Amino acid sequence: MLPTQSRNRRKQTGRRARKSARRSGCPLVRLLVMSRTQSEKLFAEALKYIPGGVNSPVRAFRAVGGQPFFVNRAKGAHVWDVDGNELIDYVCTWGPAILGHAHPKIISAVKAAADQGTSFGIPNPLEVTMAKLICKLVPSVQKVRMCNSGTEACMSAIRLARGFTKRDKIIKFDGCYHGHVDSLLVKAGSGALTFGHPDSAGVPAAFTQHTIVLPFNDVEAVKAAFAANKNKIAGIIVEPVPGNAGLYLPKPGYLEFLRKITKANGALLIFDEVMTGFRLAPGGAQERFGVTPDLTCLGKIIGGGLPVGAFGGRAEIMDWLAPLGPVYQAGTLSGNPLAMAAGIAALELLSEGRVTQVPKKKPEAKSGHRRTPPSERNIYRHLEDLGGQLEAGMKDAAKSAGVPVTVNRCGSMFCAYFTGGPVWNLAEAMKSDRARFAKFFHGMLAEGIYLAPSQFEAGFISTAHSPADLEKTVQAAAKVMRRH
Ligand code: PLP
Repeated sequence: MLPTQSRNRRKQTGRRARKSARRSGCPLVRLLVMSRTQSEKLFAEALKYIPGGVNSPVRAFRAVGGQPFFVNRAKGAHVWDVDGNELIDYVCTWGPAILGHAHPKIISAVKAAADQGTSFGIPNPLEVTMAKLICKLVPSVQKVRMCNSGTEACMSAIRLARGFTKRDKIIKFDGCYHGHVDSLLVKAGSGALTFGHPDSAGVPAAFTQHTIVLPFNDVEAVKAAFAANKNKIAGIIVEPVPGNAGLYLPKPGYLEFLRKITKANGALLIFDEVMTGFRLAPGGAQERFGVTPDLTCLGKIIGGGLPVGAFGGRAEIMDWLAPLGPVYQAGTLSGNPLAMAAGIAALELLSEGRVTQVPKKKPEAKSGHRRTPPSERNIYRHLEDLGGQLEAGMKDAAKSAGVPVTVNRCGSMFCAYFTGGPVWNLAEAMKSDRARFAKFFHGMLAEGIYLAPSQFEAGFISTAHSPADLEKTVQAAAKVMRRH
């Protein structure tokens, strides 16, 4: 046989095998056909030069077993790995891709900015546009400082809270992750939780002695902490909707309670909205739940997919920052023009002309109730509908498979815990069956659906996910759950 004939025959056989495997219900057959050869080669190479082969631990798949795949293209709700496999993506680059990957307006904004230079280290007009957008859209923010990551935002907000109040102690909640800040790596969620190291090595005990860790949604625990630490607590830092131990919601009235008790004790309330900012509403969880913190940390979405962070709040507090005040904070690449251009494009798309309509102060509402009735053309209304479809579909899938699953959702964030639930805090999240989740994760991957590779991560829906994508997802979920 001539070499080309033999190649053609091999191609045809491969095509036939793939076709019949696609029809096949057997996940093993599908897995075998979904080749990952290039990813495997890259991972072997990466392991030689990068610790664990990854630049952020959760990406290594340690919580679910197996090896990570490598991606070289993403568009809309889909990513393509280096072997050409297409996946529906619910990680959305861990939150930022709320408009889907590679949105044309964001891409052209970045290209236009790059043509003018990639970094100046001198004030540039885009920083002013970005600051104005954030101040107008986020209810609590009168002034904002840009930085380069969510970690930096939280670290700086805490330093500012301590400087402003002249107190040292900070309350955080177990399962809440505020980046890899030394003093906050105590009972942190996300990767730290996934790997069973809630407290990181390398953090001296002295660095965390002023961190008080409490269970989320527990009113009495917070009251007791304030009673035991009179005039010592600088502030509470909280993810208003914790998304780093899966996803659980604040009980009705809980965020209002945190607002009241901090105010009554001269402490600051810091909302870490790195994940929820512009995700749950243009003004984040504080707009959605109607509770206004003193300081807000942002990241992810506000960078349109480029590295960014920001923190802001009342002007009288923010003015304690250098160069006006004594609290030092700085950054070589802060306000980078590419990140600003991408972020501005994203925020303009998300706010859909609402910039001039958002009032600064609103009456407080009960947590758990959406206060901003979305207009028909509001992007967030669309995301809510998609979220509702996925939630209902996942619940049906679990029911039909007879598997105990608790689906928590807030707007376009969700988590399916493999436990009968309910899940309102870390202790309840920890009851989930992680071995079952790992099987579910790999089963879904074989069906072309990429969920976060850990039970303790939130999933994200973007405006680019179509109802058909969601339908495919819930059908796959039903099939995979039935198998495991
Ligand atoms: N805060 C929250 C709520 C987060 O979810 C994250 C990251 O996932 C961070 C802070 C840290 O952000 P970054 O990874 O950009 O440093």
